Amino acid sequence: MDCIFCKIIEGSIPSAKVFENDRIVAFRDIQPAAPVHILIIPKKHIPTMNDVTAEDDALMAELFAAARQIARELGIAESGYRLINNVNADGGQVVYHLHIHLLGGAKLHGLNGA
Ligand code: 5GP
Ligand code: ZN
Repeated sequence: MDCIFCKIIEGSIPSAKVFENDRIVAFRDIQPAAPVHILIIPKKHIPTMNDVTAEDDALMAELFAAARQIARELGIAESGYRLINNVNADGGQVVYHLHIHLLGGAKLHGLNGA
């Protein structure tokens, strides 16, 4: 399949992984927008949040659990972080394999007037 993130999952494109289990992998974004910028993805190829179904409920919960664990392990749980999921063109989605951005390590500005 012609998907960058599926290639990262199978290992044919290298990545700096910070978490992996049978269903999820997380790795550092190649163009970090913050001191900590991790992408958390399901190994299942789901193009966008619009394609998630009730069948994926446990997987979605596990993605957020991984986000909490990675934030703790990278030392940003208490200082704070932001989780972002971009959907389709107006959302700024570039890679069509569902992913959550975990951003932190500095005061983030932008959305919500922060
Ligand atoms: P989107 O805009 O789709 O929400 O975010 C896609 C993200 O994937 C971008 O932040 C981009 O820097 C990152 N990215 C794209 N290609 C690669 C890659 O080959 N390796 C890694 N580690 N990140 C990538
Ligand atoms: Zn994929």
